Amino acid sequence: MTRARTLTLAALRSGGKPAMATALAEIERKPNAKASLDLLDRAFMAPRAHVLGVTGPPGVGKSTLAGALVGLLRERGEMVGVIAVDPSSRTSGGALLGDRLRLSVEADEGVFVRSMAARDRLGGLADLTVAAATLMRAVYDRVLIETVGVGQSETDIAIAADTILFCVQPGSGDALQFMKAGIVEIPDIVAVTKSDLGQAAAKAAADAALGLDLGLGERGRPAPTVTVSASRRRGLDALLAAVEDHRAWLGEDDRLARRRHEQALRWLKAALRDRFGQDGLARLGQVSLKPDQPPFSHLAELARTLGSDEFAP
Ligand code: GDP
Repeated sequence: MTRARTLTLAALRSGGKPAMATALAEIERKPNAKASLDLLDRAFMAPRAHVLGVTGPPGVGKSTLAGALVGLLRERGEMVGVIAVDPSSRTSGGALLGDRLRLSVEADEGVFVRSMAARDRLGGLADLTVAAATLMRAVYDRVLIETVGVGQSETDIAIAADTILFCVQPGSGDALQFMKAGIVEIPDIVAVTKSDLGQAAAKAAADAALGLDLGLGERGRPAPTVTVSASRRRGLDALLAAVEDHRAWLGEDDRLARRRHEQALRWLKAALRDRFGQDGLARLGQVSLKPDQPPFSHLAELARTLGSDEFAP
């Protein structure tokens, strides 16, 4: 049994980067083990961090921006966990980007960086992303998830992030494209990157603002547009202020709890579909969670009702 090696949440919080690396490795190796699911449940019930998702097409400047934001958050004394989700195709150099950030913060005990490979079945977000975000959320002050947006996969960040920051690049037509593709309902904040490139940035900001005006979506709050230059360190304070505004808004009227509940339910259904197919999910009938109920060991319970013996009781 893995019990003897089970990591408690307290040990995870006091154990620094090695403890987090061990816990993630253990969960990756044995995602269905009781110890893994229990730890995730406990982490789910003891959140500390705000989770910021940074998304947008390859080359838009996400990694540079994420690196700059991590620097700023560290200056403010926050402990930061970063998850860099690499595109499965590996053509855009995503793996290198996560690694670049990791190397730059290696000596800093206050930043933990983990790269993951995206898998297609959860549409761009790695299977482990939600688990890792849940663990990091219970340990750090801030979690950043960076994920490459290819096609519609931007939407999947919604399964893990409290606040979604969508990056558009001047001159790329991204702002107009994402309006057309319906992604306009997804972001909580839009960052127009590379403002040092001049006029095109102002046009992209105007396009994005127009699109957001037209497409005020289900997320229920107008998404502000902030223009930044990560390489020149411009606009970052305003961007963080927009993030904090959104965080404060989420804190009202149970919005954050509701958002996290929806995410947990989505994760549970995706995990069941992953392991037992659409048929398995259908056999369970209605899958639900109570408010604040963690989804992880509930997965094991449901799996056992489907007759699975992979989930040890
Ligand atoms: P990602 O693929 O979205 O993570 O984008 P990267 O952060 O790797 O940036 C892609 C390219 O844009 C790199 O060559 C960066 O140096 C460049 N870049 C990133 N931020 C800025 C910026 O603020 N201004 C300018 N001019 N270039 C930038």
